[in-house]
Amino acid sequence: MEENKQCIECGRDFFGRSDKKFCSDGCRSAYNNKITGGSDKLVRKVNRILKKNRSILQKLNPDGKTTTHRDQLLKAGFDFDYHTNTYTTKEGRQYAFCYEYGYLPLEKDFVLLVKREESN
Ligand SMILES: [Zn+2]
Repeated sequence: MEENKQCIECGRDFFGRSDKKFCSDGCRSAYNNKITGGSDKLVRKVNRILKKNRSILQKLNPDGKTTTHRDQLLKAGFDFDYHTNTYTTKEGRQYAFCYEYGYLPLEKDFVLLVKREESN
């Protein structure tokens, strides 16, 4: 079925199949370049850091709970700027999590590593 469409890249009206979004190949690649070159790139970068952080925590914490030094994490390439969520205890101590693996900064640059048990 052919119908009147509007190009989502340049806004021009064109006639085409109902699943067509662009008036031309040029508009399609311009649009896709913007997507992959922009926000997707950032998302991929952050995802990569989070996955790396998670695998470092997993490697340093095979038993689900341990204490390590901040330097061990840094040496492994851990990035303290990125985590998926935080958890604050009643005492006001804040854990940072990368997926199910978390850490709590202790005194003298020691770090408590924990693993959240998934209940579902
Ligand atoms: Zn177009």
